[in-house]
Amino acid sequence: TVGAVAVDINGTVACATSTGGMLNKMEGRVGDTPCIGSGGYADNMSGAVSTTGHGEAIMKVTLARHILFHMEQGQSAEAASDLGLAHMKSRVGGLGGVVTVDPQGNWAARFSSLQMAWAAAQKDSLHYGLYTGEHFTQII
Ligand code: ASP
Repeated sequence: TVGAVAVDINGTVACATSTGGMLNKMEGRVGDTPCIGSGGYADNMSGAVSTTGHGEAIMKVTLARHILFHMEQGQSAEAASDLGLAHMKSRVGGLGGVVTVDPQGNWAARFSSLQMAWAAAQKDSLHYGLYTGEHFTQII
């Protein structure tokens, strides 16, 4: 997956998600990525989410929309992402990762899968790294 979330100076949020799908996928499979609410969701009232991981599980819990529901209830991008991933794991057994941003620009890159690479850019800075398990390697 390549996924992105963005917010502009007016607090307008957006998400985008692209994937090659799962290895050995069934012919004709439509995964989570193009399904609104699963592979991504954006709402200026709460934020934007892009997801990666086990598509069938992501679709069963509509992971992106689920995370934004928690943000509507007052959770931070990080807490809501963790709640969504934990819900997916306990409810349907799937693993994945998400990037999330709220309209104020607070963002999170969280995962329950083995690892996830991410990058974050602001007007004058660029940060990126690779999370592997519990370990985080700051590259810049
Ligand atoms: N979520 C994608 C799928 O199930 C796989 C990925 O993370 O790229 O098709």
